[in-house]
Parts: sequence; C-alpha cells; structure tokens
Amino acid sequence: MITCRCSQLRVASSFSSFPDYDTHKKVVLDSELFDDEPVAQHYGGVGGLAENWFKCKTCGEVWRLVEPDPPFKGMWCPVAPPASV
Ligand SMILES: [Zn+2]
Repeated sequence: MITCRCSQLRVASSFSSFPDYDTHKKVVLDSELFDDEPVAQHYGGVGGLAENWFKCKTCGEVWRLVEPDPPFKGMWCPVAPPASV
C-alpha cells in the first residue's frame, strides 16, 4: 500500500463543523498537492451541496470535498481508486 502525501493531509472523514470544513478546504487549496478536477458526479447524485474535486499531482488520486449540510457532516474521501493506465 502506497502512502502518498495526499492521504496524509487528513484521514478520509466527515467534518465536525463548518469551520472545520473551511479550514480543511483552505489547507487543500494552499497545499499545492492538487490540481482542480471537474466534478463528474455529485455526491448522492444531487447538486445541492458545494462540492470540489481535487486530483493529487503525485499519485493521481481524486479526492472529493463536500460541504456539510447538517445533519450531513460533509465529506473528504477518495472518489475512486486511481484508474489503471
Ligand atoms: Zn496522492
């Protein structure tokens, strides 16, 4: 199992609060580990939540960042395993 810096940024998880989400989003944007990736499929198939995808420049993993909408706690997790080329 390869541990990339993108997976060390934060454990795949939800958020405890909006500030927690905002802080993590800022960390992601400031990290320069990622390229922006178009959102191909919104979480849950609904477009109502702000959602960003970020593609790791190192390993190609695409991470999904979904804003919280209580009781939903938001999400930071890989979209899918890296596509084999
Ligand atoms: Zn990575």
